[in-house]
Amino acid sequence: MKLCKTVAELRAEIALAKADGQSIGLVPTMGALHEGHGSLIAAARKENELVVVSVFVNPTQFGLGEDLDAYPRTLEADCVLATKMGADIVFAPTPKEMYPSEDMTWVEVTGEITKVLCGRSRPIHFRGVTTVVSKLFNLAQPDRAYFGQKDAQQVQVLQRMVKDLFFNVQLRIMPIVREADGLAKSSRNAYLSAEERAAGLVLSQSLQHAAQLFDQGERNSAKLVAATQALIAAEPMSDIDYVEMYELPELTPVTGTMRGACLLAVAVRFGTTRLIDNIVLEGE
Ligand code: AMP
Repeated sequence: MKLCKTVAELRAEIALAKADGQSIGLVPTMGALHEGHGSLIAAARKENELVVVSVFVNPTQFGLGEDLDAYPRTLEADCVLATKMGADIVFAPTPKEMYPSEDMTWVEVTGEITKVLCGRSRPIHFRGVTTVVSKLFNLAQPDRAYFGQKDAQQVQVLQRMVKDLFFNVQLRIMPIVREADGLAKSSRNAYLSAEERAAGLVLSQSLQHAAQLFDQGERNSAKLVAATQALIAAEPMSDIDYVEMYELPELTPVTGTMRGACLLAVAVRFGTTRLIDNIVLEGE
């Protein structure tokens, strides 16, 4: 595995791979890698000749008062895991390398797709994501890029960006990897106390409950949302940011009976840690 810390180093490696006709898979991450990231890297390994994993805690996607400074930075361990899962290159630039000047170019997807769900409580978040992912696409020139369904809204926003800007890359979306008890793996789980960790289980449990109701024939979106919300609210440590359902792919509001595939998404604080989870319900 080769560690590249500068744009120039990465570009040189990509130029060599391109000259050799190699296919390139890119896995963008913020590091503190776990098995969720590992599944993306493993998928990239299967489908591409060169696998690039970026490890960059992207400052532009954090709002004021969010956890940018506290976010875990574990580059050595990340390199070990990335190598084990099959990465050829780890790209770990500094913020200055990715954002050389204060005046800069933004890539922003507008509309409801970035305003609902996490966009409401994190208004600059998706602009930061689309900007950094555009930079990474231009640098790594991937044939395929790998993202997790864990960040379901991010997936829809990036699909939209790729379509609108004619990026020549295929987005590959991987299922949510969970702990044995159901909690979705996340770098932020490390922030949780033992009590918060136990309380956080209510997210996957409430979504599973909604899935069961759906399987039993419930198609009323308000009822499914209410059932999910009630279970989460019953957990005393939970502080709900949102429990909502939107129709895929454009995240249009669903009122009444579900028709197409719908995303049921939750964001809940446990102490100072905000966790997200979701499930896709495929309506008729
Ligand atoms: P992050 O480092 O949190 O920005 O995540 C980098 C990528 O890994 C994103 O595409 C995430 O959706 C994905 N990811 C994070 N956690 C999981 C998980 N539990 N299962 C699958 N993918 C994940």
